[in-house]
Amino acid sequence: MKKLKKQGKNWRKFWKLGVDELNTQFFNVSKDAELTVTEGHHIYNLHDLALKYGTPLQLIFPFILEDRLKDLIGYFQAYMKIYGYKGKFFYHYPMKVNQNKEFILPLLSEGANLEVTSANELWLVKKLWEGEKFNSKIRVLCNGPKTDSYIDLIEELRSKGMNIVPIIEGMDEVERLSKYKGDIGVRVDLSIKTDSHWDKKFDRFGLSEKDALGLNKMKNLKIMHYHMGSQIKTQKSIFEGVKYGFDIYTQLQKIHPSLDTLDIGGGFGIPYEKKKFYTAKGVSSKIIKILKNLSDRAGIKHPNLVVEWGQYIVAPAQVTIYKVLYEKIIPKANAKAWYVIDGSFMNDLKDTWAIHQRWHIIPANNMHGSLKTTWLAGSTCDSDDKYTAGGNYILLPKIHENQDQFVAVLDTGAYQDALASHHCLLSAPMKIVVADGTIKIARKRETADSIGRLFGWTNGDHK
Ligand SMILES: *Cc1c(COP(=O)(O)O)cnc(C)c1O
Repeated sequence: MKKLKKQGKNWRKFWKLGVDELNTQFFNVSKDAELTVTEGHHIYNLHDLALKYGTPLQLIFPFILEDRLKDLIGYFQAYMKIYGYKGKFFYHYPMKVNQNKEFILPLLSEGANLEVTSANELWLVKKLWEGEKFNSKIRVLCNGPKTDSYIDLIEELRSKGMNIVPIIEGMDEVERLSKYKGDIGVRVDLSIKTDSHWDKKFDRFGLSEKDALGLNKMKNLKIMHYHMGSQIKTQKSIFEGVKYGFDIYTQLQKIHPSLDTLDIGGGFGIPYEKKKFYTAKGVSSKIIKILKNLSDRAGIKHPNLVVEWGQYIVAPAQVTIYKVLYEKIIPKANAKAWYVIDGSFMNDLKDTWAIHQRWHIIPANNMHGSLKTTWLAGSTCDSDDKYTAGGNYILLPKIHENQDQFVAVLDTGAYQDALASHHCLLSAPMKIVVADGTIKIARKRETADSIGRLFGWTNGDHK
């Protein structure tokens, strides 16, 4: 620890900022030891924003979304060209990863197509379509169990001219969807293991390989889709899925010659812990190489490729900031003190609790300060509301009297919002959008009254 206190220490490096492969290339430490984000010639000081808008605070950076998507589409298209691959590339953004308008609109304008999982998500797409935020080239894939209202909405949007493709999810959908007038797809539950958080033993999604290969010929079957799980740990797993999926694809195509698109789903991971990780550039190159070689060997047309990497695109585009309310000494543990924050892991960063998600948590101010080993506690009265980095510790500055300490959680843009809750009726973080040198409030801080309403407490009721 002594070394850290030396003058001239490279704090940017110490906090693992400014590194492309760790998705921190836009983050830096200012001369005043505060956390900054750089967008072109705009530099945002996150400590100043936390002081100005209060905490808990979620900051959305649309330029990070745009940058990531542009790069991803660029990689696939470039490698297709380099390797002489004849199929086309399509990115479909899986809406469930983050349905906030502030995420969806920039992605659409950067060339994303969509993938939805429910009638209610599709209803948002309908609103976009009616509001002309949508051009008719954008294709929408529909996953998830098809209730009657879901199928009705799919058919309504198709009749209005939307390029919308239902994906058969279960055998009981086959009959109704085979009568569908547009293109359809089928989801196959590949019987291979992946190293991700996905309960493979009891997977219930899509058709088994046997059922899929037993389907009668469908003239409008265009897409074979599979999805192996989220936050896949190794690139090897991704490649094995592609190889295995391609094999099923060729068998299916013999029965349904209209099949021309392989959709490899989501699952590309994020280096949440800022350790060495596989890269989109490397993986996209290898996927195209694999598909090119396999289809040439099988003597079939190179399939069009759909990729639905959601977490990969959106997680780094949001940061959540909390204030440390106070510290409590821990007598005997890996960490010396609890830092109690003015928000909740259980409410706002649900995966901390649900799947033991790790985060990169760094100070937003005093980034040159002397450090302490800490555990973080949320403000609900629940003993599960905590983050201990898996029982290890989080290094944060020592608390100074008369100065608030803020902590920033990076990569919070994926999944957390739709899972968020109101345990102890805490307010959700305020949401601001940081773009082009200006700050816009996207969601105000919830008040006691607005939360009370969610629980039926309207004015005049409580007599
Ligand atoms: C959840 C999901 C995705 C996105 O997964 P990520 O791990 O976020 O990339 C993509 N496709 C389908 C069908 C999904 O269910």
